[in-house]
Amino acid sequence: MNIGKLILSYVVILLIGISAAIFTIIKVQELADNTKKMYTHPFTVSNAVADIQTSIITMHRNMKDVVLSKSNLEILLTMEQVQKEESKVINDFNQIYKFYLGDKQDIDKSFQLFKDWKLIRDEVILNMTNHRIEEAIEITKGKGAKHIENLYAQIKILKSFAFNKADEFYSRAIDNNVMYSVILVTGSSLLISGLVVLWMVLSIVKANQLSNKQMYLIDQNILSATLSFEKDILKISSSLCRILNVKKKDILSQKADYFFTTPVQFEQFENQIYTGKEYQGEVYVEVDNVQNWFNIEVFPEIDNMSNLTSFSIILTDISNKKKIEEISIHDSLSGLYNRNYFEATFDKEVKRACREQKSLSIILLDIDYFKQYNDTYGHQEGDNVIIAIASVLSKHSNRPYDYAFRIGGEEFLILTYLDTPEKTEMLADTLIKEVEALQIAHKNSAVSKYVTISIGAIQFPSNHTYTSNEMFKRADEFLYQSKTSGRNKFTFERANNTDS
Ligand code: GH3
Ligand code: MG
Ligand code: MG
Repeated sequence: MNIGKLILSYVVILLIGISAAIFTIIKVQELADNTKKMYTHPFTVSNAVADIQTSIITMHRNMKDVVLSKSNLEILLTMEQVQKEESKVINDFNQIYKFYLGDKQDIDKSFQLFKDWKLIRDEVILNMTNHRIEEAIEITKGKGAKHIENLYAQIKILKSFAFNKADEFYSRAIDNNVMYSVILVTGSSLLISGLVVLWMVLSIVKANQLSNKQMYLIDQNILSATLSFEKDILKISSSLCRILNVKKKDILSQKADYFFTTPVQFEQFENQIYTGKEYQGEVYVEVDNVQNWFNIEVFPEIDNMSNLTSFSIILTDISNKKKIEEISIHDSLSGLYNRNYFEATFDKEVKRACREQKSLSIILLDIDYFKQYNDTYGHQEGDNVIIAIASVLSKHSNRPYDYAFRIGGEEFLILTYLDTPEKTEMLADTLIKEVEALQIAHKNSAVSKYVTISIGAIQFPSNHTYTSNEMFKRADEFLYQSKTSGRNKFTFERANNTDS
């Protein structure tokens, strides 16, 4: 699972959570507002209306008292009561204006009626002060009482509206809509979050499966191993175990020299890897007496503190490449090195002998009367002779840096390092004798009844100054000498330096 998906999931869950929280807060706020309104509006308004109704009745009764008054003082005292009530009514109207939730015109109408009543009241007072008592009584009982009735009825409208509003708030409060919508939003949030989490989990599982599959493919196909700092084998891939024909448990905790052909090579590897450098080389491991060749690459593993902790090894099977290499440098008939390899090696070995001050010997040999042999016994038999002679040469060139080449049809060359000229001479003599001792019948040979060879042998001093061409030419001259002086023999010389 990539980091992008994780961040996306986190953001989605966060947004869902925030939206759900905001929705719930809004709904709770709405509920609180409704509760507040329910309390303030109907109660305040109905209280104020009830007060106004009481005050109107009181004022109307007061006005009746006014018309029944016997003296101006009595009128004055009653009017004081009326004014007190009036200011209470104005106060109540103010409260209604402040909290009424219905049409303001309803209040205006009531208030206007109240103001109009004040004009009627003033008319009554004026008549009373002018001693027109009959008229005052008439107004009070007539249009005064009627006006009070209207005012009472109008103010009642406000009260009913307030009660209706209270009912509405109440039914809204007991209505479960808010609860349902909060449950719905919370449930949906949980569901979506759950789906997002499920998606994340599935993505992680899928990524794990993919990585396991990749690990499996690597284990099955890449030849790899891990070494501890002490060079113990800690891990090894199944493919490498398979190719080495070993069980994992048998190879774990073996030392890394398991992979190295020679102790010298292992030493080189150790010297290199502990400096923190990568190592690369060609090695072979013997499996059931067959050499399995590998290109080995060792990578040092370094921790955060720049300390070397372990080594990773990657091997590449190069057995086929080695086989092709082997084929390309060997002669298919005799199994000896071929002419191409002779040309690639000879010059190199001459230079090495020179550099390392080693004494190099060359033994050049040719089968005697081989044309006659072929003519007598056939080409196939001739091939068998080449094979038989090659096996004699192999036997005497089996140390490191010994080489036996088939450089022509029936011409061979041995390149070797021997301590003394006598040893070279002795080798040439041995080869002559051993070939004849093979007792391969050759009735048309002029020198023996068996197949024989002639040799030109030469040993160069360790401080020689010859080129490879000059060396070969010398050996060829000696071979020619052996041929012309009778065959089945060797001509040997310990060469001196050209300039001495
Ligand atoms: P000499 O003693 O002077 O060396 O005489 P020779 O007959 O051995 O030499 P010559 O150079 O005249 O003949 C070499 C013969 O080697 C000719 C050829 O038929 C034979 N020859 C070369 N390569 C092969 C091979 O691969 N198989 C066989 N059977 N014969 C070969
Ligand atoms: Mg020849
Ligand atoms: Mg010959």
